[in-house]
Amino acid sequence: MTAELARSALKKFFGYDDFRPQQLDIVEHVFAGNDGIVLMPTGGGKSMCFQIPAVTMPGTAVVVSPLISLMKDQVDGLRAVGIRAAYLNSSQRGEESHGVEQAYENGELHLLYVSPEKLLSPGFFTFLKRRRVCLFAIDEAHCISAWGHDFRPEYTMLRQLKSAFPAVPVLALTATADRLTRKDMAEQLGIPDARQFVASFNRPNLSLEVRPGQKRREQIVRFIRERPGQAGIVYCLSRKQTEQLADKLRESGYNAEAYHAGLSPDRRGKVQSDFINDKTLIVCATIAFGMGIDKSNVRWVIHYTMPKNLENYYQEIGRAGRDGSKSDTLLFYSYNDYTTLKDMISGGGNADIQLAKLDRMKEYAESLACRRRILLNYFSEDHSDDCGNCDVCANPPQRFDGTVLAQKALSAVARLRQSVGITTAIDVLRGSSKQDILKNGYDRVKTYGAGRDMSSYDWTQYFGQLISLGYLYVAHEDYNKLRLAPAARRVLYDGEKVELVKFQTIRDRKQQEQSKTAKRAAAPRSRGSLFETLREVRRELAREAAIPPYLIFSDKTLEEMAAAAPTTELAMARISGVGEVKLARFGAHFIQAIRNFSDESVSATATAASGEPDDTPTHLLTYRRYLKGESVRDIARDRGLQVTTTYGHLARAYREGHDLEIEDLIPGQTIDWVDEAVRALPDDQGRKAILAYIAEHHQDGIVKYHHLDLVEAYRTRHPLITAS
Ligand code: ADP
Ligand code: ZN
Repeated sequence: MTAELARSALKKFFGYDDFRPQQLDIVEHVFAGNDGIVLMPTGGGKSMCFQIPAVTMPGTAVVVSPLISLMKDQVDGLRAVGIRAAYLNSSQRGEESHGVEQAYENGELHLLYVSPEKLLSPGFFTFLKRRRVCLFAIDEAHCISAWGHDFRPEYTMLRQLKSAFPAVPVLALTATADRLTRKDMAEQLGIPDARQFVASFNRPNLSLEVRPGQKRREQIVRFIRERPGQAGIVYCLSRKQTEQLADKLRESGYNAEAYHAGLSPDRRGKVQSDFINDKTLIVCATIAFGMGIDKSNVRWVIHYTMPKNLENYYQEIGRAGRDGSKSDTLLFYSYNDYTTLKDMISGGGNADIQLAKLDRMKEYAESLACRRRILLNYFSEDHSDDCGNCDVCANPPQRFDGTVLAQKALSAVARLRQSVGITTAIDVLRGSSKQDILKNGYDRVKTYGAGRDMSSYDWTQYFGQLISLGYLYVAHEDYNKLRLAPAARRVLYDGEKVELVKFQTIRDRKQQEQSKTAKRAAAPRSRGSLFETLREVRRELAREAAIPPYLIFSDKTLEEMAAAAPTTELAMARISGVGEVKLARFGAHFIQAIRNFSDESVSATATAASGEPDDTPTHLLTYRRYLKGESVRDIARDRGLQVTTTYGHLARAYREGHDLEIEDLIPGQTIDWVDEAVRALPDDQGRKAILAYIAEHHQDGIVKYHHLDLVEAYRTRHPLITAS
């Protein structure tokens, strides 16, 4: 029963049909009055776990969050879907917080967000006890543990909660995977036996790619050019890097800003809010950026240089695609970056652990196996299938017999008496006439010029492989000179074979990307598409409502809308992410835009000279094939559409005045039953009520949503006469 209640709240407020894995279990657990620990990755859907109980249980859910900058955003988002939420923190003026306190005392709030300081301020517990608290949700709960990477001393006082409110369930939520931290967290909160809910860390909508760190800026410009209008973050290592890159991007005509700790708070706030509101599309930032933002439509994340460990990397790429829509991530890697980080870490505290973590990061970047498997295995999840959405899966490595190549490289190192670094070794192999080489007499070494046939770039890659394979190592303590490992002897003297992986050149990449870009241009994301039109509408509505665009509808919802092109409320309500309040508030604007768009496309089609132009609206393509005598099922299969969507196309074509025997598509007595339901039910009951009515009164008939769509279209030309 609670499941039913929870599901209907999910649909009603958020417009989603199904819970994600674990969400419903957690909600039911809280309903039953239990404490819990929730571990989910960034973007995994933690908020839903306390928001659904908040709107269905009697009383107010109190959410403790350390990120004051996020509170307003979250509360705005909740209000936009019709949930009564408010926040209390130190940023407010007296009268404002007074209003919120009043609302709480009047029992008007589903959710109350508070900062830890506020919660623990004198008299606040007494204040809370004047009404009923149904749940305490502790967001970013790892902050309570000194083991975690984000320890906040003020959080430790939260242990008072459980003793002051023993009967109120406490739900602690975090994205920090570390087991020790989690255990400590539960103890600190006084809920040591709370059940732990651990969701998968897999984020299948994020593509993973690693590229050699060469010509990074050029590569970034190209990457951005292929993604017009998409918002993204480039993470850099230094302030200087962020500024240089932002300059370069602006020179290339992109709307980019730098963000780092050296900017004034005002400036930082401005960059952040412009990014949230889609005014600035690209931010070049140090890692501090992104902690305080919940923007769900970040479409890509680039790492200009490698992060120090996989935890940071995963958290940072996790800021892309929170809405679940496809998003791209790109990491630049070079061996030099690795040595730089290594030097940085070596001086600091617990260097051993950090160095080990850095090595795992490097292994990931150099990996020749599915990257997602490596990541998830690192987070202790066993994934034995390749993901199909990383660069390694897309271009499986080609192996070849690299024995001769390896012999050249290793003997160069040997003949140079293991006293040079990679760059010099390659110069010698390529027969360079640089001053340094000649001065040291390296041109008289036997292998001088033996590797002229290959670029230094390729040589760098193969040296990298020889190091990973354990034939060579780098003496960090001795100016990063190359040394021969024992295995090298076997290659040089015992004829051991060496298998290497063919290195993909930049040119190969370029070709691949060009074909990818061509594909993308054909996808509905291109300029002048319905998706673009809907985005424009969203921007306008966001401006009017003074909230960020993604709080109107997520990119994912807009994509679905652009694909299904609903032109009735009924069809619009079926789009995932369209709940009741948003339907009422924004639905008509989007429906109108879709109608206008399709009118324009139809007239464009009509005036086109010959052939079938590519921009024929999708529903008319379906309609034409149907006229030619193909069945709905065949069309659906052929076009890769849902059967429901295909019927929707025909209903729409009919509504727009195209010729169609629509009755043929509606089985038996469906029209009569729908009419009967409409007459029997009070006004504006919606499709769910109609279907429920029919199911109850005509057990023999199966009526589906798409039938209602067809009947509604039919009724546009054959109005139902109601006796009133
Ligand atoms: P987290 O707090 O774990 O980082 P959020 O709670 O912000 O993640 O959720 C991320 C996104 O996923 C939000 O846009 C949210 O609306 C969406 N979402 C959450 N649960 C569902 C669901 N059951 N179905 C579809 N989308 C969901
Ligand atoms: Zn993969």
